[in-house]
Amino acid sequence: MNNYHQFDVVVVGAGGAGLMAALYASKTASTAVLSKLYPTRSHTGTAQGGVGAALGNIEEDHPEWHTFDTVKGSDYLGDQDAIEFMCYEAVQAVYELEHYGLPFSRTADGRIAQRPFGGHTNNVTGKPVSRACYAADRTGHMILQTLYQQCLKNNVNFFDEYQVVDVLIENGAAAGVIAIELASGEMHVFHAKAVIFATGGHGRIWEITSNAYSFTGDGPAIVMRRGVPLEDMEFFQFHPTGIYRLGILITEGVRGEGGVLINDKGERFMEKYAPTVKDLASRDVVSRAMYLEMREGRGIGGKRYLYLDMRPETVNKYAALDGRKRPDGSPYVVTGEELLAKLPDIVDFARTYLGVDPVTQMMPVQPTAHYAMGGIPTNKYGEVVIDEKNTVMPGLYAAGECACVSVHGANRLGTNSLLDLIVFGKHAGLRAAEYSQGADFQKLPADPTEFARQQFEAIRNSDGDEKAYVIGNEMKSVMFDEVGVFRTEQGMNLALEKVRELRERLKRVRRPDPGKIFNTEVINIWELGNLLELAEVTTISALARTESRGGHAREDYPKRDDANWLKHTLAWWDHGQVRLGYKPVVITKYQPKERVY
Ligand SMILES: Cc1cc2nc3c(=O)[nH]c(=O)nc-3n(C[C@H](O)[C@H](O)[C@H](O)COP(=O)(O)OP(=O)(O)OC[C@H]3O[C@@H](n4cnc5c(N)ncnc54)[C@H](O)[C@@H]3O)c2cc1C
Repeated sequence: MNNYHQFDVVVVGAGGAGLMAALYASKTASTAVLSKLYPTRSHTGTAQGGVGAALGNIEEDHPEWHTFDTVKGSDYLGDQDAIEFMCYEAVQAVYELEHYGLPFSRTADGRIAQRPFGGHTNNVTGKPVSRACYAADRTGHMILQTLYQQCLKNNVNFFDEYQVVDVLIENGAAAGVIAIELASGEMHVFHAKAVIFATGGHGRIWEITSNAYSFTGDGPAIVMRRGVPLEDMEFFQFHPTGIYRLGILITEGVRGEGGVLINDKGERFMEKYAPTVKDLASRDVVSRAMYLEMREGRGIGGKRYLYLDMRPETVNKYAALDGRKRPDGSPYVVTGEELLAKLPDIVDFARTYLGVDPVTQMMPVQPTAHYAMGGIPTNKYGEVVIDEKNTVMPGLYAAGECACVSVHGANRLGTNSLLDLIVFGKHAGLRAAEYSQGADFQKLPADPTEFARQQFEAIRNSDGDEKAYVIGNEMKSVMFDEVGVFRTEQGMNLALEKVRELRERLKRVRRPDPGKIFNTEVINIWELGNLLELAEVTTISALARTESRGGHAREDYPKRDDANWLKHTLAWWDHGQVRLGYKPVVITKYQPKERVY
């Protein structure tokens, strides 16, 4: 059979997590990577600011400080065993990337350069610490290119532009995946001993988002339909600085280099909300502060945006007021040329999309949907766990943004996602390869493509008059308004009703183009179905959680409630209905405290 393939390990997704997993799995097992995009077009390539590791190249720093900051940033919902594991592995992981040839920016004496980022602090003084290792503002691009080259060198088998649409589970273990070859429209069976999902996020649920068009949550939706629960889906991060109306990201690195947020009165308002770290508070804190400023009429011209100011005179003024120093102890002073060298792409984006030159003008920004803290539940080895007792499903793995380890808890710190990809991608790859050495292939069902075919036949034979893009826009708008930075029961009920209505309407979508070759219309309808199901799970998980924690801020329950809610949500998709369960948070050293920045 031409459309039948067999590998020990199949990796779904060719972003940072997928490539790292493939690189490690391929050292001992036959490995294939399936990706709906050409690998180097994965969203990892857009990551700007940096990857976090306590190298201490600029100033004193320790993996333990990184651990504590991540626990605190997670609003104590992160699992502390996994967080400690990640932060201690970080140093080695970054040096490993360096040895693979990643061209990091450098200090004057040739070491990997580092800069401050939100929520990363010196645990003694509480001040921001330089922990983000970066390659200008193209860190993700460099990671992706470096890992892709390493995978090619290691003879990983790539199936580019293959869209995975189903996972096969036999006898309670992973047996392979079903994929559509986009160039021909043909379905292929990939029989595998181990399957690793690394499909990225689902930020396309929201209207204003920094996420690529491809972030449609395929991985979580696929495994959920096969009985795997999703964890902590109510926690989605809104990044403070998206370009007004477009959502395109302006990295936190801008504030790391000294940029500040300014309201209509010309005030640096973060001083009020986070007196110690100010503009470098964690993202949930900054996004909420921006909403409050705008609600109280201090958006620019009364509108729904604020200014991000990185003009050298502003940076130098506030650096002097904050007493910021260079590593040699001299006052922190920057020039326009230095900012250009450190943030070239940002300067370019602002010129292209805003017509604004950030070295001489301020940039209009608003919070933008950015990162999925929730996803497919795993332990720290990337093994998927399927219930309240963390029972492992043999042969199934997940890593990267589609997974929930959980190291980010209720709110992720900047630079910790790229770190998550390389640490947990590596371990998922190692574990999957090891498992495949001792396991047999599961027997495939008589008709392995049946479930996937049913889904696509329903789309192709649909004969209503609904338009998919209208349904998509209605979802994005209600989710941004009602399940966004601030939430209420009333608003979320409205969103839930709407999303359910839209799921029904999607069944009556206008019959799509019947072609087979690169039929993106059919694929986009299927992806919209994924987004709608994940939107429903997100809203139901969020309605149930009657507290505010990290990225989940409820106006009707404004306080964190550790007595009742220091636990992870699990959501099962039961024949179109969502069922919720809960499991405890792993707490090792750090007892929950109030977060003060
Ligand atoms: C603009 C932007 C800037 C960011 N900056 C930073 C930063 O500076 N530091 C940081 O730590 N984090 C940053 N993040 C977050 C971080 O970049 C992402 O969380 C991370 O790159 C996700 O990597 P991944 O490997 O999980 O997924 P991706 O890199 O998105 O890869 C997903 C892969 O899955 C494939 N795929 C998806 N669905 C299917 C399917 N059905 N079938 C086959 N293949 C499929 C895609 O083709 C792709 O190859 C940023 C995010 C954005 C959006």
